[in-house]
Amino acid sequence: MNEQKTTLLIIGGGPGGYIAAIRAAQLGIETTVVEGAELGGTCLNIGCIPSKAMIHAADEFAKATDYAGDSHLGIHVQAPKIEIGTTVKWKNGIVAKLTGGVGALLKKHKVTVVKGWANIVDGKTVDVALSDASRLRISCTHLLLAPGSLPVELPFMPFGGRVVSSTEALSPTVLPKKLVVVGAGYIGLELGTAYRKLGVDVSVVEAVDRVLPAYDVELTKPVAASLKRLGVNLHLGCTVQGLTASGDAVRIRDSAGTESELQADQILVAVGRRPRTEGWGLESLMLDMNGRCVKIDDQCRTSMRDVWAIGDLTGEPMLAHRAMAQGEMVAEIISGKRRHFQPAAMPAVCFTDPEVVVVGKTPDEAAGLDCITAMFPFAANGRAMTIESTDGFVRVVARRDNHLILGWQAVGNGVSELSTAFGQSIEMGAMLEDIAGTIHAHPTLGEAVQEAALRALGHALHI
Ligand code: FAD
Ligand code: NAD
Repeated sequence: MNEQKTTLLIIGGGPGGYIAAIRAAQLGIETTVVEGAELGGTCLNIGCIPSKAMIHAADEFAKATDYAGDSHLGIHVQAPKIEIGTTVKWKNGIVAKLTGGVGALLKKHKVTVVKGWANIVDGKTVDVALSDASRLRISCTHLLLAPGSLPVELPFMPFGGRVVSSTEALSPTVLPKKLVVVGAGYIGLELGTAYRKLGVDVSVVEAVDRVLPAYDVELTKPVAASLKRLGVNLHLGCTVQGLTASGDAVRIRDSAGTESELQADQILVAVGRRPRTEGWGLESLMLDMNGRCVKIDDQCRTSMRDVWAIGDLTGEPMLAHRAMAQGEMVAEIISGKRRHFQPAAMPAVCFTDPEVVVVGKTPDEAAGLDCITAMFPFAANGRAMTIESTDGFVRVVARRDNHLILGWQAVGNGVSELSTAFGQSIEMGAMLEDIAGTIHAHPTLGEAVQEAALRALGHALHI
């Protein structure tokens, strides 16, 4: 067996792992990344980027379809067609460009990339099964665990055949006629909406009695209304019982116990993701766990000295920007800098139509504090009218005594881009007066941010 030595060994080249590697190399730390599949991990290959590409393609197709009907903008086109193979090829091109870019960045920073599956021997030693069936033993001073997560499988309806995860749903060769989506969370609604816009008959089955149950009701109302307008069939408060004997339908049961069947050419199961804790020797380290996740402190240290863990392996929120921020921090701590993972706010964006953004505390989370909450609707925003997107609002939560902003929420077309301003204002400790007193360009959706702050102060100008 060949042997190598390194200072920092990272298992997993996803957003957590590759960012940690780049930062460590910038700080002069000798670094090796072991990746068994493709650099970029879930995020670049089968997650964030491909899903946003497919959502964009579906939006464009839906727009063209609308113009083939009665358009109040006076635009008329022939009924559009979609060649889904070409769409997937375009999406794959973006993925290839980005994953190739990660490889180039790692090379530029002189990070050693080993292609193969890592298996932990002990806290300082890892064996890698290489593609030519040989093995490489790597010993290290610091071991960083960043292997990500896997989709949760329903035991009575495992993946295979018609039952697919987001991975297969992001690379269709043909579009199904009827798609049943299990789970009205992030993946179920982002991809369910995209498939509906591509002309597929979509039914969504959700155990809870509303869509996106992780977000507050007011925020999700415009999403539910839009799903209805698009013709997505919602089966809320329903549980999936399994496939019918013929396998071409899903049996569901509502809260009253009534059973029914939903015909399906394909079933997308999107009921959450679980940390990847099995199959690579993690158990041999006997680390302290937090449920199914590896337990970490506020520096991403595990219970074993010089063994670190980041990203989806460490639990919620399972978001790429959290993994990246943790990876960057761990590299800095190893280099001797004093860092702690204590973000004032962690943005969460759901790329539905309309989009939903939550940064910092929601009114419910701030319930124990004496807070002001104010909302400004896009129906009163000029820019929103000009882009035909008046559904939704911006909401701010601030302390009553000193007006410190604790949280922002928004729902509306394009509000994902407001997450930057929301995050910055909270990290910089802005007060309502800071946002209200900032000149916001006109006409922009961002004016609703200023107006929400003004409204919280009791003197909104456009409502
Ligand atoms: P991963 O990205 O999963 O990377 C882990 C890597 O480790 C993988 O490449 C894997 O092959 C490798 N690996 C695992 N075990 C081993 C081993 N033993 N040896 C060698 N290599 C190994 N998040 C957002 O913030 N925004 C979004 O819009 C968003 N959209 C998403 C859409 C979908 C469909 C999905 C599935 C997820 C989405 N996410 C999104 C979540 C995001 O992808 C994850 O939170 C993020 O990728 C986690 O990063 P990570 O580095 O922890 O793990
Ligand atoms: P999720 O946790 O967002 O949603 C799962 C949904 O399935 C929930 O609403 C839950 O109530 C429902 N559910 C669970 N079991 C069920 C059952 N048996 N029958 C019916 N409904 C059931 O999970 P997801 O959509 O699979 O996404 C996984 C993770 O990936 C997310 O939590 C997030 O961390 C990440 N992600 C993020 C983004 C983004 O940031 N825009 C996009 C996609 C995925």
